[in-house]
Amino acid sequence: MADSFDLIIIGSGPGGYVTAIRAAQLGMKVAIVERELLGGICLNWGCIPTKALLKSGEVYEQLDHLADYGLSVEKRGFDFDKVVQRSRKVSAQLNAGVTFLMKKHKVEVVMGAARLEKGQGAPTVVVGDRKLTAKNVIIATGARARTIPAIGLEPDGDRVWTYREALVPKSAPKSLIVIGSGAIGLEFASFFRALGSDVTVIEALPRILPVEDEEVSKAAHKAFEKRGLKFRVPANVKKLTKTKSGVAVEIEVGGKAETLEADVAIVAVGIVGNVEDLGLEALGVKVEKTHIVTDKHGATGVPGLYAIGDVAGPPWLAHKASHEGVHCVEHIAGLKPTNVESPIPGCTYTTPQIASVGLTEAQAKEQGREPKVGRFPFRVNGKAIASGELDGFVKTVFDGKTGALIGAHMIGAEVTEMIQGYVIAMTCEATEAELQGAVFPHPTMSEAMHEASLDAYGMVLHI
Ligand code: NAD
Repeated sequence: MADSFDLIIIGSGPGGYVTAIRAAQLGMKVAIVERELLGGICLNWGCIPTKALLKSGEVYEQLDHLADYGLSVEKRGFDFDKVVQRSRKVSAQLNAGVTFLMKKHKVEVVMGAARLEKGQGAPTVVVGDRKLTAKNVIIATGARARTIPAIGLEPDGDRVWTYREALVPKSAPKSLIVIGSGAIGLEFASFFRALGSDVTVIEALPRILPVEDEEVSKAAHKAFEKRGLKFRVPANVKKLTKTKSGVAVEIEVGGKAETLEADVAIVAVGIVGNVEDLGLEALGVKVEKTHIVTDKHGATGVPGLYAIGDVAGPPWLAHKASHEGVHCVEHIAGLKPTNVESPIPGCTYTTPQIASVGLTEAQAKEQGREPKVGRFPFRVNGKAIASGELDGFVKTVFDGKTGALIGAHMIGAEVTEMIQGYVIAMTCEATEAELQGAVFPHPTMSEAMHEASLDAYGMVLHI
């Protein structure tokens, strides 16, 4: 039957479309339902287009330092429209790539909003006037920006933006207030600052990037301030109102009231799962704090119904969604997937970049792991000096009893590319001995990763 499948996936972000490919490889007849664009938020409104904007900002900001490299330029400038257009083009290219991949793997793409209804086995998926049935259904509907209407943190697309509007503005605002210092807030803060905006970031918790290791947070704060970013931390947002030409944000910082004004405000205070209008309640699917509750295989408890990625809870990261999806579909196929609980790295693509995996030093102490901690700064690394990239450091956290690498934290140029070395080490359950015995190419900034592992055991070489 045309409308009967082995697997239907709702949502085509990096959770949904990667799961569809893996399911097709396993011989399943697959349909994927998407209400907007193939590739989801990540490819179209998130990870990818922000990286394109950030690259433009980074290159432009580098021009400030040309003299350090013995170079000069006659006239610097940018065409904001072209910067945005490039970012949109990058998204369009990847969106076309997902279309190609779906075709290649014979995955049927059904455009429209899906609703679930009680079925014979797994729920039936209703899209417009089509009723699709399958042995199994995976919900991969993702998440969207959280808003706080009570204090005015409700984006209007004009002067109060979420990431959506921030990706396609008509011009770079002269002044900007960013509410929230997580990855989304700081990446936009970093980009607009690079193009010259006057940017103030407001964070409710005691430090910026509160999920990162405290030393990294502190170093990031200092490095961002050096680039001209301003912070109000910790600050309580009382009210956001629109003024004649922009916005006013009333805050309380250190017990004192203050009003900040700017052209635009970006609200980046977290995300909520897309659980609405799916018919979950009638099916008895358990939802907690806007996320679908699942077991470690993604099962919701309703026969044949699974959920993966952002809609199934934190960490809200594209690579976590893909990993969960592949695992889920291999489990459905009766395979015994390994690495169910692989360590999940986090990356923030600001200048400087931030990357981490596993436990922070504080978390390791809380767990009684008696951590052995190593550090190594880039300012004494040969490649970093040659490249003029002196900011930042690497920090490793080992379990004091077993020697297992249990956490790694980095800030500096291109650390988002380097963290994968530690991710593999942790996935393979490496100890200090393996990391110390590994050969790191010279000259590279990754040598700092080796040195931080040596430093944890008093064997650092270049300090
Ligand atoms: P987040 O939860 O990471 O950060 C939000 C920040 O806002 C927190 O630090 C929080 O304390 C603060 N906050 C909350 N309410 C506030 C208020 N009223 N006033 C001031 N500050 C307030 O959320 P996000 O940055 O919106 O990102 C959403 C998710 O998407 C995150 O899980 C993030 O990791 C993920 N993401 C990842 C990347 C990346 O990997 N580079 C990029 C973008 C988003």
